[in-house]
Amino acid sequence: MKPLADYHVHTGFCPHAVGQIREYITAALEKGLREVGFCDHLPLVGTAEKDYTMSRDDLSRYVDEVMAARSEYRSEIVVTLGIEADFFPGFEEKTRELIHQYPFDFICGSIHFIDGWAFDKNEAKSDWQALDVEDIYARYIALLGDAAKTGFFDFLGHVDLVKKFGYRPQRFLAEEWRRLALILKQTGVAIEINSSGLRKEAQEIYPSPAVLQIFHAHDVSIVFGSDAHAPDEVGMDFEACRQLALAAGYREAILFQKRQAVKTYCLS
Ligand SMILES: [Zn+2]
Ligand SMILES: [Zn+2]
Repeated sequence: MKPLADYHVHTGFCPHAVGQIREYITAALEKGLREVGFCDHLPLVGTAEKDYTMSRDDLSRYVDEVMAARSEYRSEIVVTLGIEADFFPGFEEKTRELIHQYPFDFICGSIHFIDGWAFDKNEAKSDWQALDVEDIYARYIALLGDAAKTGFFDFLGHVDLVKKFGYRPQRFLAEEWRRLALILKQTGVAIEINSSGLRKEAQEIYPSPAVLQIFHAHDVSIVFGSDAHAPDEVGMDFEACRQLALAAGYREAILFQKRQAVKTYCLS
């Protein structure tokens, strides 16, 4: 069965996405999804970068509008309130303060910054040529592990986003990924299978088949996300995501409510 829920949907609340909450819900209904999880960016706490998150003033309005849509569409689709939060070492208190103020169903933990460098922004593309790719991957994977240990996050988003522009290390960092998988297993943090990598230079779903196999071997649970930034991207390439999950050995995915994994559903 096709993934039932898309847990990574942005809206026009974020400056780099377009469309209203209702348009995304309509798109989810048209795609036959049973649940749509809004996952706009929490205002950043550890950097002055403002291009891609909603403003602090908009956060309450975002929560109110998603909650209103949840009631309005109750008989048609489950609308879930999520947020995509960056992990910034050293800013844990500020992050905690923001996420505990609202009744989120899930918190997606993402790494978009390595020591303040926004490695996945288009402006960063040229930086990559001069860098030690393997070192960047290792630091990125270590940050994911640190993020999981904070307890702030229910799942980690686009787990190998570091490949976005197609830069890949000479060797597969199996040991580093295994270490991360072990942390996820111990902390109970799930991961997201995110289709947006297919729309980038990486040309591959996040995470890669080899990484996903390691997560499966460690019993790490999965959710699905499109990372839609426009309504027509909701649920995009979910059949390919399902096939990837099945090939790695997964037979089910999980759903969240009020930050608890409440249900699993079958993928086959
Ligand atoms: Zn992201
Ligand atoms: Zn996102």
